[in-house]
Amino acid sequence: MEKIPYKIYLSEKEMPTKWYNVRADMKKKQAPLLHPGTKKPLTFEDMQPIFCDELIKQELDDDTKWFEIPEEVQDFYRMFRPSPLVHAEFLEKALDTPAKIFYKFEGNNTSGSHKLNSAIAQAYYAKKQGLKGVTTETGAGQWGTALSMACQYFGLDCKVYMVKCSYEQKPFRREVINTYGASIIPSPSMTTEVGKKINAEFPGTTGSLGCAISEAVEVATSTPGYRYELGSVLNQVLLHQTIIGLEVQAALKKYGIKPDVLIGCTGGGSNLGGFASPFLGEMLRGEAKYKIIGAEPASCPSFTRGKYAYDFCDTGMICPLAKMYTVGSQFIPSANHAGGLRFHGMSPILSELYDQGLFEARGYEQTSVFEAAVLFARAEGTLPAPESSHAIRAAIDEALECKKTGEEKTIVFNLSGTGYFDLYAYKAFNEGSMMDYIPTDAEIAKALEKLPQI
Ligand SMILES: *Cc1c(COP(=O)(O)O)cnc(C)c1O
Repeated sequence: MEKIPYKIYLSEKEMPTKWYNVRADMKKKQAPLLHPGTKKPLTFEDMQPIFCDELIKQELDDDTKWFEIPEEVQDFYRMFRPSPLVHAEFLEKALDTPAKIFYKFEGNNTSGSHKLNSAIAQAYYAKKQGLKGVTTETGAGQWGTALSMACQYFGLDCKVYMVKCSYEQKPFRREVINTYGASIIPSPSMTTEVGKKINAEFPGTTGSLGCAISEAVEVATSTPGYRYELGSVLNQVLLHQTIIGLEVQAALKKYGIKPDVLIGCTGGGSNLGGFASPFLGEMLRGEAKYKIIGAEPASCPSFTRGKYAYDFCDTGMICPLAKMYTVGSQFIPSANHAGGLRFHGMSPILSELYDQGLFEARGYEQTSVFEAAVLFARAEGTLPAPESSHAIRAAIDEALECKKTGEEKTIVFNLSGTGYFDLYAYKAFNEGSMMDYIPTDAEIAKALEKLPQI
């Protein structure tokens, strides 16, 4: 076996040509999405006004284990994939740990994150269906950027509803989206019925992902030739993101490396889901055992303090219901929460696997996340996204634990993106003005009061 290089690159030829559907290996499947009116499982026809046909088929397919990645999508992937798996030698040295640490780097594209993996697939299916354009929401901005890049590539129009506080705080992110020709509307806006309603009910609100989703769905369903696309949470998004985990598997195999601990941060669950699915599949088939950790913010603690129940995916309560770990669709994280991962719910697939005990979750306060981010940036050179830094925090904690016990565990985490557009958050941390905010039990209980009765 060759010496392990600092960066393990697969060649273009070694890039996976299929996505892996972990649902096919789940004996107990995730709960189906429900119609918000009838409370019955959503059918293909129910979803047709909202989503592209081919994506609905992927959403509903719990049985097909492998999906061929369309050639047009593989072509685009080649601009930024395969992405490297990095042996974090410098971080190991900085921590003085016997642990071996590796990270998969998904920030090597203009959108700055893994989101482009699903954006290009979703844009492809919209184009194939002959649509004029798509609508979406974006929080921190990575998904909006990714989808605007993907739509531009296929010549589709793209309307992005951007959470108002990010819209105001991230003018440069906005400009990248403009560069790719998409239009951006701060949300809640006065251009939709649901936006007007939310503005009337919560005057001066800085918005939430849930609000922006409600607006984007309303526009997609009321504009001919348009559909809505979502950057996380859905089964189809997890499916597209498995390109990450499949590449990790191939790279580890190439050098005979066996992971012990696998870590990803969790907002809606797409990067952890895509990164960990192939390994979760091995566990579900009884072939291997891993410690898998989802790292989330203590200020929006879906896994660690939420409830596994049916809930709305949006604040406006017009979208389908998903059974997931949730802190309630009415939960709006503290405005001083800077680290992303603000969504109230979680992927139904990951929620079910978490409920079955296949992985664990940890909640981290943002100052300890930024401490980890700075340590990582200084050791490894890459400025990490605050979201990804939750995973870094967990990886560092695991490595420090190994230092205590002397164990030489192999820790692999997903570095989901870079932090160039999060410099206000870094500034707050560097100046010492960043605060931690942990919601009280009463606040979470209040948001959970509005859970739909199923
Ligand atoms: C969007 C995003 C996340 C969180 O979303 P998931 O669906 O949980 O992956 C994490 N990291 C980065 C860099 C992101 O852009």
